[in-house]
Amino acid sequence: MPKEKKFSTKDFDFGFERVSAQEKTGKVTDVFERVASHYDMMNDLMSLGLHRLWKRKFVESLPIHHNGVYLDVAGGTGDIAQAIFTRLNRFKCPAQIIVSDINPAMIEKGKMRHPHLSWLCSNAEDLPLDGNSVDVYTIAFGLRNVTYREKALQEAYRLLKPGGKFSCLEFSQVNSSLEKLYDFYAFHIIPKMGEWVAHDREAYQYLSESIRTFLTKKELLVLMKKVGFEKASYETYTGGIVALHHGYKL
Ligand code: SAM
Repeated sequence: MPKEKKFSTKDFDFGFERVSAQEKTGKVTDVFERVASHYDMMNDLMSLGLHRLWKRKFVESLPIHHNGVYLDVAGGTGDIAQAIFTRLNRFKCPAQIIVSDINPAMIEKGKMRHPHLSWLCSNAEDLPLDGNSVDVYTIAFGLRNVTYREKALQEAYRLLKPGGKFSCLEFSQVNSSLEKLYDFYAFHIIPKMGEWVAHDREAYQYLSESIRTFLTKKELLVLMKKVGFEKASYETYTGGIVALHHGYKL
């Protein structure tokens, strides 16, 4: 297993700001606490509904396991876990579906909507679950918010059973033809929407900045391979706005 890189102070990005590890975790937690009550509506608004399409494609790409264990990390209000639940029901497949998130406010919101799912309040870097216990690990729009991303990937690898699948949906880099329009939307329109609808411009400014400072698709692929994932690959949707990375623990 590769050694964890040694970090010094201010070595982490919080949007365009450089902060310490502790500050990053605290600031990210604060952002999602503030946006929790408007979270689902703002997702629809900001993505013009596209997040539903991306999430549907993401869930449809997952394998079906009879009596499988599905873990959705940084699961927020439970969209992905609920979609997995619905899909497995369609196949009449019993399964255990766990949603985990670091933020109690997001979990509370999710629990009200989906009380039948199993909820766990925990950091993606250190989950209180046994190794080799999960068939499918998902993380959607979560990894860029995690402080020690490599540690979170190592943890995903530890938790998966041999043959288990890791799947990550995340914002990525748009194709060059869309760059100007996308930048205008991300840095002018989205913060304004945040201000008008959620009365929190800063939180939505962070969202756009965190997308810009996140790993490129290739860097994420390299990190996945570094922690041990095999057959790692990615595909992009909607002109590169999002990328779906997957890999296996063999
Ligand atoms: N997966 C959900 C979705 O697609 O709607 C939520 C995505 S939301 C943009 C990011 C989530 O990551 C938030 O709910 C936040 O609390 C969570 N998060 C941030 N840092 C985390 C960490 N270190 N461990 C677990 N969850 C984290």
